[in-house]
Amino acid sequence: MWGLFQSFTIFAHSIIGEIFFMRLSKSFVPTLKEVPADAVIPSHILMVRAGLVRMLSAGIYSFLPVGYKMIKKISDIIREEMDAIGGQEFHLPALNPKEIWEETGRVEAFGDTMFHIKNREYVLAPTHEEIMTFHAKGVVKSYKDLPQIWYQIQTKFRNEPRPRSGVIRGRQFLMKDAYSFDVSYEALDKSYELHDQAYRKIFDRCGLKYFVVGASSGAMGGSKSEEFMVKSDAGEDTVAYCEKCGYAANIEVAESVIQPIVRHSESKQIEKISTPNIKSIDELCEFLKIDHRETAKSRIYIHDDKPVLVLMSGNDEVNETKLERVLGGNVRPGHPEELKEITGADAGSIGPIGFKGRIIADNRLKDGNNLYSGANENDFHIGGIDLKRDVPTVEYFDLRTVESGEGCVNCKSPIDVFKAIELGHIFKLGTKYTDALGVNYLDENGKEHPIVMGSYGIGVERVLACYLEQNHDERGIIWNENLTPFHIHLIGLNMKNDEINSASSNLYNELTKEGYDVLFDDRLDASAGFKFNDADLMGIPIQVVVGEKNYKNGNVEIKIRRTGKKEVVALSNLKSKLRELLNHLTHKH
Ligand code: ATP
Ligand code: MG
Repeated sequence: MWGLFQSFTIFAHSIIGEIFFMRLSKSFVPTLKEVPADAVIPSHILMVRAGLVRMLSAGIYSFLPVGYKMIKKISDIIREEMDAIGGQEFHLPALNPKEIWEETGRVEAFGDTMFHIKNREYVLAPTHEEIMTFHAKGVVKSYKDLPQIWYQIQTKFRNEPRPRSGVIRGRQFLMKDAYSFDVSYEALDKSYELHDQAYRKIFDRCGLKYFVVGASSGAMGGSKSEEFMVKSDAGEDTVAYCEKCGYAANIEVAESVIQPIVRHSESKQIEKISTPNIKSIDELCEFLKIDHRETAKSRIYIHDDKPVLVLMSGNDEVNETKLERVLGGNVRPGHPEELKEITGADAGSIGPIGFKGRIIADNRLKDGNNLYSGANENDFHIGGIDLKRDVPTVEYFDLRTVESGEGCVNCKSPIDVFKAIELGHIFKLGTKYTDALGVNYLDENGKEHPIVMGSYGIGVERVLACYLEQNHDERGIIWNENLTPFHIHLIGLNMKNDEINSASSNLYNELTKEGYDVLFDDRLDASAGFKFNDADLMGIPIQVVVGEKNYKNGNVEIKIRRTGKKEVVALSNLKSKLRELLNHLTHKH
């Protein structure tokens, strides 16, 4: 049976290969020599140059045959790992009745990001919590029906305000979205753990270097969530990461170990100092010949209509997410006109002495003395401030934004702060959607409870783009064996030479019959240099070059794309050499 199946696949393979797609002369693989004008980041440049995608309009991309092959490869890896944790694959409609989204309040939550169909009764789904939950209703009835893991790989629509970086932020994109349904939060922990493990396997198989960051769950609602991230200048998130122990946190919540300011044994007296035109901390330090650490910068925020003065050491930045968490309610920076009205001074001259209202300070300033700050009067500062003595109501919190080089909170090694791209996200949703849509199950005693959900997303195009961000050189893409669209890039150098033409065509047929996915550059008019450049750009792991000189001696040349290493191999040894190389590549990834 197996033998029959195998010969059938080889047969099918050879027909398809023979007729059309894998001969470059007959395929649609529009490679470009030039960098496309609108592309800045490597993945975007490479995807366009290697003929994987073309833009249709801002944030909307067409996948061309080789690009789509990549999407299918990544989707297959995702599918295998989702199936391995018991996931069942769905395919939900992108066109959704708006009323379901109204029931959960998410037409408003998504706002302008949601595409509406003109007659306003339908929306294009930006995600599918509502629809999966809808299908569970009344069908998943009993504790005996749980747990369930439902997933799909499907198109999502989001009217992203600034689509950029190619497919990394598209207005239409493919997402693997999965949803777990459980009887309790403890059971949800297990489903969440399964997804965490599956995600690691998926990203490992794709050959990605990634790290995992605890995050806040934004418009989704729920409790714990983690993001799988890839370091990249093209990213829109900023994260703090410790190479040594793996500590990773979004900059919005990241903590670090830093030196607090020193409290001097003697506190000076308060003194008002004339500081004409001095506005910034740098100017103040320069003017008074003092160190940044002797200064306390004041910022005014409006919290539920009341002013709050926030004190930071030197040039430390207020982390507004941390501030919002500390204060709760509505928080915004004070407008310039408000500052004058509240304190009597403009931004550069505000300070805690004489300020009427709540004063909070960053932990770094704890019990500081002999500090300089604004005098709440333009062109004046106050020196000799002792926070313990002069600002007794001050409250201390962690309010600063961490910076590269500061100590990791876990292991004290220097942390790194950089931009990153979110590849995937796992959430413990809880009962937000099952409550909103009334989706309950009956326990052993016949008592009704809302089903507890998790939701888990992966951006399929982002996997591809992140791989390219991490695996390229100045000549082009470098595929690994799991993702590569073809195993072998066969180049017939001078196809106008009959001998080379028939030798390389025969080789193509034989290798295809062996079961290899071969891309055959059989173009008649392309020069050798052109073919080599295209091969390096497309990045297939092994290039086999049939050229006149080597062929005369019964040889071909093999080039390993990743290392650039070339080797002349006898035709009679080629198959065993390829087997060895491809096995070797498989084991590496
Ligand atoms: P981001 O913060 O980057 O906008 P998100 O938090 O909105 O992402 P989720 O709603 O969690 O993303 O979606 C799950 C996954 O879908 C993300 O981890 C990401 O990989 C992918 N994704 C989200 N928005 C886009 C987009 N506009 N284009 C391509 N992929 C996207
Ligand atoms: Mg988003």
